[in-house]
Amino acid sequence: MLEKFGSALRAVISKIRGAPYIDEATLNSLIREFVRTLIEADVKVDLAREIGERVKKRVMETQVPEGIPLNNLVIRILYEELVNLMGRKTYPLNIKMGKQNKIVFVGLQGSGKTTTVAKMAYHLKKRGYRVAVICADTFRLGAYDQLKQLTDSIGVPMFGDPNEKDPLKIIKKGLNQFKKYDVVLIDTAGRHKEEKGLIEEMKKIVRMVNPDEVILVIDGIIGQRAYDQAKAFAEAAPIGSIIVTKLDGSAKGGGALAAAAATGAPIKFIGVGEKIEDFEPYVPQRFVSRLLGISIEDLEELIRSVPKSALKGKFTLRDLMEYYESMLGKGGVTKRLKDIFKIGVSDSQIQHGIKRQLAILKSMTPEELDNPTLLRDHNRLLRIARGSGTSTTDVRRLLNQYNMLRKYIRTLMRSRRLTKEAALAKIMSGDLDLEGLDAKELRKLRKFM
Ligand code: GDP
Ligand code: MG
Repeated sequence: MLEKFGSALRAVISKIRGAPYIDEATLNSLIREFVRTLIEADVKVDLAREIGERVKKRVMETQVPEGIPLNNLVIRILYEELVNLMGRKTYPLNIKMGKQNKIVFVGLQGSGKTTTVAKMAYHLKKRGYRVAVICADTFRLGAYDQLKQLTDSIGVPMFGDPNEKDPLKIIKKGLNQFKKYDVVLIDTAGRHKEEKGLIEEMKKIVRMVNPDEVILVIDGIIGQRAYDQAKAFAEAAPIGSIIVTKLDGSAKGGGALAAAAATGAPIKFIGVGEKIEDFEPYVPQRFVSRLLGISIEDLEELIRSVPKSALKGKFTLRDLMEYYESMLGKGGVTKRLKDIFKIGVSDSQIQHGIKRQLAILKSMTPEELDNPTLLRDHNRLLRIARGSGTSTTDVRRLLNQYNMLRKYIRTLMRSRRLTKEAALAKIMSGDLDLEGLDAKELRKLRKFM
């Protein structure tokens, strides 16, 4: 799987392992090589560089007692950043019992849709679901036969009609015929005789079927273009999740996964070969561990072996200030902030917000930055507001934001054994729900910008 990407990453890892001593120059060269590996896998150049910088920053900022080699720390941080890049989370396929779950598969011709439908049917059948398949691709010659052959081989019923040109009619009949089934998978055309036709057809199908889930199948070969492709489909249909295929062969599969993950749509499965069983739920941690050639157990050991002291330390207003400084003028990074603070916020609005926060922080004295309890004094608030050309309400809002962040960071540091930098990065990457925060808390945090 992703042989080239994996072996390039493993080469980096073994260099890290073998380095007798990691000083800044060694770290720089290791990170350069890591970034190059990402770019070769077709991860977007900006993103790859940003990850490289973050790895460096995190390594430099982690306080490791003298005499403890940095090698494991670097590997651990690479691992965490790769998992972050590749989607972080595992998402279940939501199948409700006691009803007919309808799943529509969309994607361009050749992406691996039909194969994936059969793989999914097999996967679900093995788990005890009653599965059936509908062939609604009336465009591609032989589409019916291809799916028929595949579903026959796994003993899953399939409905289609090679003589019917209207996919809607086929789907209607099929859904009717498969009323008693738990899951019905609908394979659609990936091409149309007119250019706009495919999207139109997709919309019509979605409107009629009212599916429980629409799955977009993306060919891993297309690398970072997966981002635009996923966005284009998402404009036309409510894409619930993504499956990336052909990760066995493609040199660009890593970039495709990263790009698909960057759209925010969950990647639920991956295709790793032509055979029906070459299909698996997507678990970024497991996937990255395989790429690195290190077992999850060993990675956990690495995480444990990071000195405890590195996981201590308070998140201060000074840290917040440094964070905002690092975000100034960074288009790519503000996208991440946008993910958190959501819709309708433009880059320039975010930059404006950051500048205002910085103005407030910079009007504080060093003592206040280190000891926020001093700021309970209203006169200090007034002074800071005046100094930064804001109001005491603005200053209070910032302090609230800081307190909230500090609380979350402390929780993350404890529960996930993260450094404060890593915890902040996690929060700012919009990954909060992973840590079991409820929607209300998330909304609160978002309001503070
Ligand atoms: P569709 O046009 O989207 O329905 O795509 P198909 O399912 O017909 O697949 C197109 C080609 O890709 C076929 O030759 C499949 O065998 C191949 N394919 C699909 N998934 C994978 C995969 O995960 N790995 C590899 N190596 N080939 C795949
Ligand atoms: Mg097909």
